[in-house]
Amino acid sequence: MRKEERYKGVLGWFAENGAVAETELRYDDPFHLLVAVILSAQCTDKRVNMITPALFEAFPSAERLAAASPDEVYTYIRSISYPNSKAKHLVGMAQMLVGDFGGKVPADVDTLQKLPGVGRKTANVVVGVAFNIPSMPVDTHVFRVANRLGLTDNSKTPLETERELVKHIPSRLLTVAHHWFILHGRYVCLARKPKCEDCGLKEWCNYYAVVRVKPAERRASQ
Ligand code: SF4
Repeated sequence: MRKEERYKGVLGWFAENGAVAETELRYDDPFHLLVAVILSAQCTDKRVNMITPALFEAFPSAERLAAASPDEVYTYIRSISYPNSKAKHLVGMAQMLVGDFGGKVPADVDTLQKLPGVGRKTANVVVGVAFNIPSMPVDTHVFRVANRLGLTDNSKTPLETERELVKHIPSRLLTVAHHWFILHGRYVCLARKPKCEDCGLKEWCNYYAVVRVKPAERRASQ
């Protein structure tokens, strides 16, 4: 199947059947979204949502967080993964926001990546969700789903996957497609046992053709 055909089929299916795509993280402004996304590394959105109400109440602004100590922040986030390093990153991030950016979250991927605790994926999520700038943050779900579907040529790194997806998906659909892929990876195209029989994307999926259909055809012809 030609790649254009595959993209058309996959995006068309999601447009009709994909969930209304939004981040599952709760936040009330770009600063709190940035905090929540940093906290969500190696942790579920559900767990992050359990601790952020108290955290946001204690630190409603970059200025308040910048004035806190990592130990103080730790007490609010200790139930999530890597609380020590995340507490340090959050305070460092807030201090740089206040010192270099007037306390405002920059709406630019490259600038955001200068902040402690902010990698390319986090920066892409923030610009896409908070500022509605088309972006394709590639996390483990997006990476797996895109590769299995055959939307990339077996890319080896998240950056390669991001570049390939950005090249083929119209910019008006990028942010929404990112959420479609995440939800599909989280609930259908699972890492260990993808639920291919329940998946509406079989028709366009490279993994399904190569791993499920071809071996079955071979067995039938033996
Ligand atoms: S057919 Fe299977 S491998 Fe392909 S996207 Fe669906 S669940 Fe994932």
